[in-house]
Amino acid sequence: CTSNSSAEEPPIDKSHGGLLSLAFDEASCRSRFESWKLWKSSNYTTSPYLLQKLRSYEDLHKKCGPNTRLYNKSIEQLVSNRSTGPMECNYVVWMPSDGLGNRIISITSAFLYALLNDKVLLLFLSEDMNGLFCEPFPDTTWALPSNFPIKNIRSIWSFNKDPNRYGSMLKKHLLSNDMRISSGSFSLPPYLYLHLVHDNDDYDKMFYCEETQLLLQNFPWILLRSNQYFVPALFLVPKFEKELSLLFPQRMTVFHLLGRYLFHPSNSVWGYITRYYEAYLANAKERLGMQIRLLGEVDFNSHSSYIIDCALTKKLLPSLDTKDVALSNLTGMNPKAVLVASLSSGYFERLRDMYYEHAAVTREVIGVYQPSHEERQHTEKLSHNMKALAEIYLLSFSDSLITSPFSTFGYVAQGLGGIRPWLLVRHDNNLCLQSLTMEPCFHFPPSFECKSRSRMDLGAVVPYLRHCEDFPNGIKLF
Ligand code: GDP
Repeated sequence: CTSNSSAEEPPIDKSHGGLLSLAFDEASCRSRFESWKLWKSSNYTTSPYLLQKLRSYEDLHKKCGPNTRLYNKSIEQLVSNRSTGPMECNYVVWMPSDGLGNRIISITSAFLYALLNDKVLLLFLSEDMNGLFCEPFPDTTWALPSNFPIKNIRSIWSFNKDPNRYGSMLKKHLLSNDMRISSGSFSLPPYLYLHLVHDNDDYDKMFYCEETQLLLQNFPWILLRSNQYFVPALFLVPKFEKELSLLFPQRMTVFHLLGRYLFHPSNSVWGYITRYYEAYLANAKERLGMQIRLLGEVDFNSHSSYIIDCALTKKLLPSLDTKDVALSNLTGMNPKAVLVASLSSGYFERLRDMYYEHAAVTREVIGVYQPSHEERQHTEKLSHNMKALAEIYLLSFSDSLITSPFSTFGYVAQGLGGIRPWLLVRHDNNLCLQSLTMEPCFHFPPSFECKSRSRMDLGAVVPYLRHCEDFPNGIKLF
């Protein structure tokens, strides 16, 4: 047969509907081009407006990126110790807090904030993150240069008491939201520090109010530390309403699209991912990811029974044929693969033993795999974070997911994969339910109305923001 099948195949769209810039060399970042083959195909499209916005952001980042003339000019202003208002290039410097999942969701939020305000996002990449990801923007870097003049950026905790912390300045009346550069009567500090970590107070949370957003436009340098997915709150700022509806006509795609745009594992992490995938998952006829994160003491037997019960009752896994009457012919069958991600190995072992010791009633072959069991969180170690990123990605290649409540590790996997996970919401009453969306939850949103400062439930203001299924105090986009 001489038919040329490749002539009939549609050409591969390496930009994935225009989401990714083609100005990259494939060898320098293989995941950018290869991960799409492993994800289930996404039904979600990218709006032309988002595509245009990303391309102009890339131009801006290239123009203003580290060590450009305009970057140096903005740095001069920073060291001069007072702000004279916005410059040609204005920046958001992101600082990390907590584990990798927390970091990824907060970088995504900071990036959307930067997009909405024409600011340039730079990341303070500590040693434990250096080399995890490829650069997302062509011909430039998102890494903050090591000679950045604000030196205590290395000891991030000292920022809690930083004199330029926005919330504290507001509390002490050193700054007010109606302050404008043009008034000439104030001199603004050279930067503002936004404390957007879960433990912040209502003053810091004023960040989510429109009046603050207007004030922040005056600052060429915003330093921001967060472990939260604060995207949902940006949807409540009237000033951003129109822009956000053009960028994301389907609101629940924000993390899915921005996550796939921003986070490409470096070649070394991609090596972990592809070796594991090819060895254990590629031949499976179906893949189930199970992400088990313990945030307190649990009784292993009852907790593992609860998780297995969820998988069986939701028909994600077949029940066991405990009678094992007749042996059917299983050779040559493609297994159904279960990928377990957990710091401990007990859950994996119990599940693996179950399908080793008994046949499934459906006669399917079930392969159970766990890439690592690190026992403890070691966010300060790069090698540990490489495995965490590899496992987040491996989970995202699943057909279905079971995830743990309140865990940003799971949120990232579900968002990248475009999967609505089954959430292990209530161990005590055996409840597991499928999330309505793939969006992460904003765990600690403000709980007041901006103008009157009176208490308000943000999960009840607009139909597209609701309380999270796994953490009712939080809010998420629908
Ligand atoms: P969260 O604390 O569940 O919201 O997720 P984070 O990712 O922010 O922090 C948990 C950290 O613990 C991860 O980043 C990893 O460093 C580690 N960790 C937790 N679960 C796993 C797991 O299943 N596999 C691996 N390799 N690391 C994990």
